Amino acid sequence: MDIILFGMQGSGKGTQGKILAERYGLKVFEMGGALRTMIASKSELGNLIKDTVESGNLVSDEIIMKVVERFLEGEAKEQNILFDGIPRTMHQTEALLALLGSHGRDAFALDIKISEHEAIERLTKRRMCVGCKEIYPAFYKGASCSECGGELVTRSDDSNLDSISKRIHNFKTETMPVIQHFYKRDRLIEVDGEQAIPDVTEEMIEKAGYLFS
Ligand SMILES: [Zn+2]
Repeated sequence: MDIILFGMQGSGKGTQGKILAERYGLKVFEMGGALRTMIASKSELGNLIKDTVESGNLVSDEIIMKVVERFLEGEAKEQNILFDGIPRTMHQTEALLALLGSHGRDAFALDIKISEHEAIERLTKRRMCVGCKEIYPAFYKGASCSECGGELVTRSDDSNLDSISKRIHNFKTETMPVIQHFYKRDRLIEVDGEQAIPDVTEEMIEKAGYLFS
């Protein structure tokens, strides 16, 4: 069973996805990384993606699906996959599910749920090291950077608040309908992301672990 990971910015889905992947040996397909790997391969498809990105255009869903297909037929052939950062829209969802189906695969969505209020709280309370630019989540209580000892500052400037509300808006308008789609197909696992990290993990394993046994 493949897993499609969802979660609003600040939900900690990256951390939880990593734990799930390690525990059950899932191959992670992360959109940005997959495109970079493809570009680095200098294959025909890689060069096409490079040209698209360099000309400032968005990589089309058709090309994205080709990248996913290479992944399915290559390194992830015998393994379950954890998708992170894809699909973002209904159109991508339909294309991805069709592709998985044609390879005899099936997917469940996993949503690490937090409220909009909580997302804003966490994102505005994130701190960044002025030295090495490492980002620290709201729950990190240290006074200075654990990597370089630099000072940690919040980024509560208007442009940061603006980009946070834009990302949340996009999640609500584009990704929420996708999550809803999985819910209607009885293919959605929801985990309360507002608990402490180990509790989120525990709930996730409890609800999703059986898919891999
Ligand atoms: Zn630092």
